[in-house]
Amino acid sequence: MFAARIERARAQMQAADVDVLLLSVGADLPYLTGYQAMPLERLTMLVLPADGDAELIIPALEAPLVQAQDDVFSLVPWGETEDPVQLAVDRIGSRTSVAIGETTWSTFLVQILNRTSGITFSDAGTVMTPLRSVKDAAEIESLRNASHAVDRIAARLQAGEIPVVGQTEAQLSAELGRQIVAEGHAKVNFAIVAAGENAASPHHHAGSRVIQPNEVVLCDFGGTMSDEFGVGYCSDITRCVYTGEPPAEFRELYDVLFEAQAASVAAAVPGTPVEEIDRTGRKIIADAGYGEYFIHRTGHGIGVEAHEHPYIVEGNDQPLTPGHAFSVEPGIYVPGKWGARLEDIVVSGVDGPDPLNTADHHLAVIN
Ligand code: ZN
Ligand code: ZN
Repeated sequence: MFAARIERARAQMQAADVDVLLLSVGADLPYLTGYQAMPLERLTMLVLPADGDAELIIPALEAPLVQAQDDVFSLVPWGETEDPVQLAVDRIGSRTSVAIGETTWSTFLVQILNRTSGITFSDAGTVMTPLRSVKDAAEIESLRNASHAVDRIAARLQAGEIPVVGQTEAQLSAELGRQIVAEGHAKVNFAIVAAGENAASPHHHAGSRVIQPNEVVLCDFGGTMSDEFGVGYCSDITRCVYTGEPPAEFRELYDVLFEAQAASVAAAVPGTPVEEIDRTGRKIIADAGYGEYFIHRTGHGIGVEAHEHPYIVEGNDQPLTPGHAFSVEPGIYVPGKWGARLEDIVVSGVDGPDPLNTADHHLAVIN
């Protein structure tokens, strides 16, 4: 599988006029090789020339972590007194068009810049984004498994099987995190819990506030689930519960959100400009008078990273392609009062949208 991905990367390099691709920390490297670089001061860097074999420059002490893959890359371990940046510079050689991973630490880029001349550097996104943003069948299955895992947690939350009232936001967040791991994820990426007025802050940090009866509790949580190749795929879901009978004013707000989210999902048909997904839900929210309270884009791509291309935002007119996987998560946030968000992961299927999350979309009332 990784050999095939390297070949696709080479084809993309050719199309983008890139002579050599350099990848260090971040998600591009595990996507191409199955190995994730330690985010430390020692340099790990894949050097993939368009016209030669791939080599992975790696600290010798980390080399035992890497599984040899003769058809994918060879290892270039470096000892503690060696100069790893020079190993990379030597491998660039006389090539003049270099694409470098967007999360490569600037210290390494600066050192490479200072030791070379006549090279045009570009962002490796030009090579990697077209590959990573269109998922194959195995990746979609990995995303579906991860989505179903968090669906089960959401269902328990909605059924009142997870203690909410009387807990602090932080305690509920910790419990969601525990369940994310218990459901098979390798790690927790986030577990936002925002009660009452805190739900008006989209990325609220769960804190010491005790959850009371008769208020909204917004829960947005997800993790990374490892697949058989050692590459993780992410989950991400948002559901709101109300700890008592919601007032009519909140029901009204939630009904608008529910309608907007469903309409945006339904708009996710191949060929549609991505920004149309955003426009469709945003119009419903604006027409109902809540436009000023929807303060973020509709969604983000998801895969080996929790946030990646394509971004579901006004101005992104790229056509939706079968295999695109992304969140649809409109929200309405009334400062000082309350807020709500509803989020699913959706895959663009050949025939239309394929929502991966199936947990109930209605506002759950719990006591
Ligand atoms: Zn989320
Ligand atoms: Zn999200």
